[in-house]
Amino acid sequence: MNPDTDTTTQTAPAPSAAGDADARQRQREEARLIRTREAAARKNTASRDGQWAAGDRTPLNPNEEMKASGDPLQVRHRIETLYAKWGFWSIPPGDLRGRFRWWGLYTQRRPGIDGGKTAILEPHQLDDEFFMLRIRSDGGQLSVAQARTIGEISRDLARDTADVSDRQNIQLHWVRIEDVPDIFRRVEEVGLLCAEACGDVPRVILGSPVAGIAKDELIDPTPQIREIIDRYIGSPEFSNLPRKFKTAFTGQPVPDILHEVQDIAFCAVEHPELGIGYDLWVGGGLSVNPFLGKRLGVFVRPEIAHEVWKGVAGIFRDHGYRRLRTRARLKFLVKEWGPEKFLQVLQDDYLGYELPKGPAPRVGTAGDRGDHVGIHQQKDGRWYVGVAPVAGRISGEKLLEIARLAESVGSDRIRLTPLQKIVVLDIPEDRVSDVVNGLRALELESQPGEFHRNVIACTGIEYCKLAIVETKATAREVVKVLDERFPDLDSPISVHVNGCPNSCARVQIADIGFKGQLVLDDETGEQVPGFQVHLGGRLGRGDDNDFGRKIRGHKVTADGMPAYVDRVTRNYLETRQQDEPFAD
Ligand code: SF4
Repeated sequence: MNPDTDTTTQTAPAPSAAGDADARQRQREEARLIRTREAAARKNTASRDGQWAAGDRTPLNPNEEMKASGDPLQVRHRIETLYAKWGFWSIPPGDLRGRFRWWGLYTQRRPGIDGGKTAILEPHQLDDEFFMLRIRSDGGQLSVAQARTIGEISRDLARDTADVSDRQNIQLHWVRIEDVPDIFRRVEEVGLLCAEACGDVPRVILGSPVAGIAKDELIDPTPQIREIIDRYIGSPEFSNLPRKFKTAFTGQPVPDILHEVQDIAFCAVEHPELGIGYDLWVGGGLSVNPFLGKRLGVFVRPEIAHEVWKGVAGIFRDHGYRRLRTRARLKFLVKEWGPEKFLQVLQDDYLGYELPKGPAPRVGTAGDRGDHVGIHQQKDGRWYVGVAPVAGRISGEKLLEIARLAESVGSDRIRLTPLQKIVVLDIPEDRVSDVVNGLRALELESQPGEFHRNVIACTGIEYCKLAIVETKATAREVVKVLDERFPDLDSPISVHVNGCPNSCARVQIADIGFKGQLVLDDETGEQVPGFQVHLGGRLGRGDDNDFGRKIRGHKVTADGMPAYVDRVTRNYLETRQQDEPFAD
């Protein structure tokens, strides 16, 4: 069905009590239908994986049906002409929980529903009438004007919420559908995008937060990121992928974009004959089936990076698995084919030429943090200051203050990092202390304690409909307690807090990863919010990379998390060999 001729959406009711009741009834029926179809799709054992390349575009599950009915990006027109005028209850489920994602919009969790109900309630019972809105900042790059605009939108239309996500986006909450057209307009006026911030599309492109300024940088990948955005983001060519597609670029010799867990990653290397370019990785990802990405062993010149990106995205679109969403990420195709076949198909069918062999990127050491926190000199002699909001939480007012502070010292550049940090660039030497003190006054610390510095947390039960457990406040409590108890900790210990079995906060690559679930409280014998523990994850270490091990029996209640981290930390400090990092 073409959404432009979709009578369901064209005849959405005007607001009235009867209309509201009809809309809710329709939502309930559609939700039931979706669940029935999903169950049928799960039972369908006939393999129709990689079907597009075989010329078969039959939709194999409800999500594929939704996408096949017309480009989901077209929902923007209905947002602006229908839903923003008629209100939340005029939005049919297919748009509300499907196509809206293509414009960065998710319904947020209704307040007060505990985590034990997450799996048993109908989607519409979990939905609040407000939205989370994700704003892309590709490469994590914001100008002062862009930061100020997001801050003003947050203050005016999103109850002053703003979280720095671990994909260098900013997420707002409490957004009303009535305000979305105005928000899109304001965002786009300063050159930002919400297009394809969520959905089965190329998501925001990660980039080194110190691109263009770091002293030891091999190459500034900003032009390559820009070219991909200008050519392909918002294009129907890639607006129907089997699932999300995550890209990352870095020009740094030290790993800082977690390239091993991206669908596609370009890492700067120096080829002995061809100069500076990128080493290409594909097929990484976390979630419930974590895979490390594979090196294809080829050298990509910067000027063809967009072609190579297009080829890999094209393979995913055409050969990716579209039957079960749990098997749809690129990592499953790479695992089945192996890197040799993947490269062969890329060269033969998508590029039409061979890529030269190339060197591997530098392997990091346990001391390489890649978070850019602290005070550092740039290659042009000016300075940058990286600070750590606890678990990425700031606010619109804080964003406005950061923008004002940057502008006051002549800076126009702010960066977000994949570890939920914020970096202010281009600070003259004699103004560094002004910036450090100004940020400290906002509780944004450039010399944080080790736990403060190394904690990240996902959205959690406060807003996420999939969550079982609260995350941000729990992370804040861990930081408060542990940094007081271990003020002189001399080795980083990362703590990642996830609100459910997904891995938005990358639970498997933390020193101590917490995966939200209900656990048994030993004292009361009741199920309470808690976490499964993973220990010893590490990335950026080449062959020594590893996912954290799930420790059988290591389950903690949310309230017991600080005491657990305390025990594990003491044990590490008492038993470590000299300079032995936590993960080892
Ligand atoms: Fe939501 Fe789970 Fe992702 Fe956290 S990990 S943001 S709870 S889906």
